[in-house]
Amino acid sequence: MMNNNTLTYSTDALNILNQFEEVAFIVYVEGEDDILFWEARFSEHTAERTTFEIIPTGGKDEIYKKVEQVVQNNVRIIIALDRDYSDFESLKLSHARVIRTYGYSIENTMYCPRVLNNIIRKRLRKQQLNKIDAINAWYNDFVSDIEDLLIYDIVMQTKDLSIEVCGDNSARFLKNHGKSPRIDKNKISKKIIEDCCTFSREHIVSTKLSLSKFEKPYRFLVRGHFLTSAVRNIMSEMIGSLGNTSFSNENIYENTVDSCLKKCRCEDYKYLKNSITTAVKSLNLAEKKI
Ligand SMILES: [Zn+2]
Repeated sequence: MMNNNTLTYSTDALNILNQFEEVAFIVYVEGEDDILFWEARFSEHTAERTTFEIIPTGGKDEIYKKVEQVVQNNVRIIIALDRDYSDFESLKLSHARVIRTYGYSIENTMYCPRVLNNIIRKRLRKQQLNKIDAINAWYNDFVSDIEDLLIYDIVMQTKDLSIEVCGDNSARFLKNHGKSPRIDKNKISKKIIEDCCTFSREHIVSTKLSLSKFEKPYRFLVRGHFLTSAVRNIMSEMIGSLGNTSFSNENIYENTVDSCLKKCRCEDYKYLKNSITTAVKSLNLAEKKI
């Protein structure tokens, strides 16, 4: 097939695209990295005989064009995309077939404490090991240490300011030259003083207010990529010298991309299960006899 990234289909063409692909439905995702993640979830939450194809759009702008087509024209495709900071935006396009991640992005689901605990158990070959409380405690400290930075990052994103606040890598804010899983609060303060002094007081106060009403644990709010270095470091620390460790970002991806499934019954799992079931149901596949 042609490179989907460069194709712009009309509404009518999108409505029958699945027939050309000989599948029950099409799921559009943002990038290549998202395919395995969504494939695992759709496989688990749809009937065994239901076929689907996952197509990356190649970027945020592209996927938002597809979201508009679904919201405005009720197009028969499913979109699965990152939530980002959309909870803090006044206008959010919603539709049964537009599925957003439970947290900021797919990584927030992939780094579920139960998933991380499973990796540690496997590495240490200790089935009974339970580090979930310790992982949650680490997460709580981590998000509490970056809370101020998060507020500025949300302001930056929702007010379209072109200043990098959190960025995609937390290593520069971590202790021990980026090798610790813990935040160096001095580095956070320095960053805020240096780069965020021009932010409007009013925007900061209103974001703080929205944040106080945010009902999920704050770890779901942090940019997924920002979490990666810190997650990698906490895993290495918990496995310690026993496990012949050192995780790369690729290891973390491979080990977590198709997890937070099956035995995981966390809120994130339940939310995605419900979202996928609702999206697929809205296609009325049985009635259409596809
Ligand atoms: Zn989970």
